[in-house]
Amino acid sequence: MLLNRYRIEMFRPACNASFQSLNCHAQLEEDIGEVIPYLNAVLGGTGFTREPPSVMFRVHGRLIAVHPRKIAINALNDAEEAEKILRWLQQEINEAWERREAITPSYAAAPRPQPMAVVKLLPKTNCGECGQATCLLFSTLVVQGVLGAEGCPRISRGNRERMEEYLARFPRIDY
Ligand code: SF4
Repeated sequence: MLLNRYRIEMFRPACNASFQSLNCHAQLEEDIGEVIPYLNAVLGGTGFTREPPSVMFRVHGRLIAVHPRKIAINALNDAEEAEKILRWLQQEINEAWERREAITPSYAAAPRPQPMAVVKLLPKTNCGECGQATCLLFSTLVVQGVLGAEGCPRISRGNRERMEEYLARFPRIDY
């Protein structure tokens, strides 16, 4: 096992302490730098930095950054959600480390779905029935994994299927 223990700090974003969402920093007891390209290969990070190594994931609208000694997560509802994400990541990290000889490490970000490709499949009426002000805003949340095609009550069945096929081409991770 590579990652055994971490210490969690929860805090409000410094830019606006009145935000309802929470951020989390987990300080890692072990240096996990070596596993990061393997973790990127397995999960498909949306951003990767080679030196020092770090990888970013966007899951359900949360941004997760994995560094050698720290994991940072934003936009959390509560500490319980942070614990859940960290337990999932710890398992992914340790599994990637154990299987590293069978994994080709990746040093690049994975391709991502594009909001403009998604918005083309929407009615583009900006009606707001989905709870978003515009179709483009809805599309942005779809590519971030926060919403799915079914969130638009006005989309045609054909375009809904096209959107689902388009999104299925990209790695999708869950915790
Ligand atoms: S319900 Fe559909 S058409 Fe209306 S704003 Fe939302 S995404 Fe656009």
